[in-house]
Amino acid sequence: MAIDHINGAVLTAEEERRQSLKRAAELRERITDYLAVKDSIPSGRELTARIAAHKAELLSLLGGTEENWADWRWQMRHRINSVELLAKLVPLDPQAVRDIERVSRQYRWAISPYYAAVVAAGGVGGPVWLQAVPSLAEITDSRGSFDPMAERLTNPAPGITRRYPDRLIINVTNQCAMYCRHCQRRRNIGEVDRHQSRRVLEAALNYIRANPEIRDVLITGGDALLLSNRTLDWLLGELHAIEHVEIKRLGTRTPVTLPQRITAELCAILEKYPPIYINTQFNHPLEVTPEAAAACARLVKAGVVLGNQAVLLKGVNNDPHVMKKLNHELLRIRVRPYYIFHAKAVRGTSHFITTVDEGLAIMDKLRGYTSGLAVPTYIINAPGGFGKTPVTPAYVLEHTPEKLILRTWENRVIPYPNG
Ligand SMILES: *Cc1c(COP(=O)(O)O)cnc(C)c1O
Repeated sequence: MAIDHINGAVLTAEEERRQSLKRAAELRERITDYLAVKDSIPSGRELTARIAAHKAELLSLLGGTEENWADWRWQMRHRINSVELLAKLVPLDPQAVRDIERVSRQYRWAISPYYAAVVAAGGVGGPVWLQAVPSLAEITDSRGSFDPMAERLTNPAPGITRRYPDRLIINVTNQCAMYCRHCQRRRNIGEVDRHQSRRVLEAALNYIRANPEIRDVLITGGDALLLSNRTLDWLLGELHAIEHVEIKRLGTRTPVTLPQRITAELCAILEKYPPIYINTQFNHPLEVTPEAAAACARLVKAGVVLGNQAVLLKGVNNDPHVMKKLNHELLRIRVRPYYIFHAKAVRGTSHFITTVDEGLAIMDKLRGYTSGLAVPTYIINAPGGFGKTPVTPAYVLEHTPEKLILRTWENRVIPYPNG
């Protein structure tokens, strides 16, 4: 027996069951739109055969073997930055070829063969293509600045960006396995790969040693995992030895763009210096391939805690269903969605910027509709380097010293006492 919460009537067991079944049917109804489209959103898991076919093509074009493919150094040496090669992989009309050539005179591009196979599987102009292949919009668009976060003004010591009281970033390299077309640090990418010198890293370490309130150090770039194993072993060891550094984090897109980088040797190094958190950047379910899943499994086995920082990108993932499927695919491979970043006004990337309303609509379609684990925090980076600012759909409609008016995920409006 239970009391009907609306009219206080005493209910029979049959009536309770009847109401529960009605509610369950209503709940299922809430996601019929997603259930209708989810299979039409390609995931890397579902497109395995197509990706494998492009891999075979690439191996033949590059004269490589399976062993080469599994070797991240080979992948790095064979990064694709020739439009002729790209045109052998996918159909490209002459105008598209000329456009890519034109943009590449101003902005560098390079795509690991592994990621190129995923790009090809997603098709010309698809969600992975847009992230990797130059588009004319990069040079025709003059909005935005090169350093909207004023990173140059939050740089208290060589190699360091400090924007928060208890944590900071060490910038260790400008190198990446693939140069994202939406890169926020495009000004650092330049034309040549450059790791930070030992002298700069020593200076950064000295700053951390001298500032005992720093308990969280984030190693990033570029891509932190493009450092050699030897340098990573040394740098993580030095940080591990600093008593006030409680956690170390690595920012890397290699699980997405170069999963071959996650070798047994690397994992053995990471395992020595717990706790290590890695945040990566999957932006579309197509990127969640069996290879990416295997790389994440190796990291988890080494005791690393995995998170994802997606960027909200027009044409890539500015769709509630795509974002939901991405987060579902990530949870399957033990990557916890952490942030969705609103795209910043970085020169040459404005064609990716969505409205904040689109971001809010996505968040509104996640909370309640799916596992809380699949709901990241939507973040706008405050201009001027004043920090990540969460932006949330309004769940508190009114707020007084006496009461709140709540809006639930299904838009029920419910008053609640303030204490
Ligand atoms: C993003 C960022 C961090 C980490 O922020 P969390 O919200 O703790 O993940 C730290 N320092 C800088 C400069 C950053 O940009």
